[in-house]
Amino acid sequence: MAALYLHIPFCERKCSYCDFYSIESLKYIEPFVATLHREIALRAASATNAPITSIFFGGGTPSLLEPDHISSLLSSLRSSWNVQPDVEITMECNPGTVSAASLEGYRAAGVNRLSFGVQSFHENELAFLQRIHSAHDAVEAMRLARMVGFDNVNMDLMFALPPQTLASFAASLARMIELEPDHISAYSLIYEHGTPLYAQLKKGLVTPHAEELDAEMYAMAITTLTQAGYRQYEVSNFAKAGRECRHNLTYWHAQDHWAFGPSAHGRLGNMRYCNQRSLTAWTKSVEQGTLPQATVEVLDNQQQLEEFVFLHLRADGIPLDVVRQRFGIDILAALQPHLTFWIDAGMVDVSTGRLSLTGEGYRVCDDITLRVLELLDYSTRIASAIRIDDARRAG
Ligand code: SF4
Repeated sequence: MAALYLHIPFCERKCSYCDFYSIESLKYIEPFVATLHREIALRAASATNAPITSIFFGGGTPSLLEPDHISSLLSSLRSSWNVQPDVEITMECNPGTVSAASLEGYRAAGVNRLSFGVQSFHENELAFLQRIHSAHDAVEAMRLARMVGFDNVNMDLMFALPPQTLASFAASLARMIELEPDHISAYSLIYEHGTPLYAQLKKGLVTPHAEELDAEMYAMAITTLTQAGYRQYEVSNFAKAGRECRHNLTYWHAQDHWAFGPSAHGRLGNMRYCNQRSLTAWTKSVEQGTLPQATVEVLDNQQQLEEFVFLHLRADGIPLDVVRQRFGIDILAALQPHLTFWIDAGMVDVSTGRLSLTGEGYRVCDDITLRVLELLDYSTRIASAIRIDDARRAG
């Protein structure tokens, strides 16, 4: 299985915390779409017969594109990739940019999953983030999505916002659950370098929450969403049964994904690439007939192992057999005695053939991941030292 990602680099207005690449000059949308078709044609040379089970329009704000743009881009992709009849096609939408007509148009174009960046149901928190929409817009967007027939909708929610309290976050969670999205992504605010919010932080104009409050909000999200029937299947992601995001799973299972558009990241086998970040540089490269890649990296065996373990651990667990067959490592042995401690503490489960985190484990995912990577690094060094020693003796 494999996936396709298209980065749409336009937003009506930049949010204060966002470091995704996008610009506010919407007049470039038409030429951008034309260039995106050309990049698709260039990358078609690397297309394989792998079944494409997910296509994702991310950004930026893909809902600034017309339904005809989406339809023509999907046709281009279908002509070169093995797009499956039941492919999941997701489109990120800003609730402030959609109407019944546009949503109907996207659905007719083939989009079958929407992802709304809701973030909060409190106007002061939305204003802090400099979102262009109100809480009412988010409710209305969901109503319209259901009305035109979307039965697979995600909503994003943020916590650890400086104006937020435990009570206001609990109210946002409750409001979101009332709207019955099929999938919820709940993220902690990150102060990304280079954003206006980061500059405010450096000037002392905003005060981040204490780590304990951040952790308390995260714990509240896990408990509340789980009780409401959403299964946590990754650190930040919760889904109703059968509504896990296929696209996310492609990333977390380290499967191939072709990526198009400025700043988009792709992965094919052991090769990773990142496109030129700026629209200008990306356009120039594509128009010259060259792949618009800023960086290309080929992962060695150790890097592939680390990436495989890191991604699976954050999601639905590390498949023990696959690691043994592909990398020659008995992961349960390599992680002792820490593993026994994590299992006894209720943070890790190994009863299903996978080493997976429990709700308790997700709360300390970063700590466990770091320790797992350290232990694996240690055990692969030992294994390689033994191999070298054996080879010397044999020689
Ligand atoms: S709408 Fe989304 S992509 Fe655009 S600036 Fe805001 S968070 Fe970033």
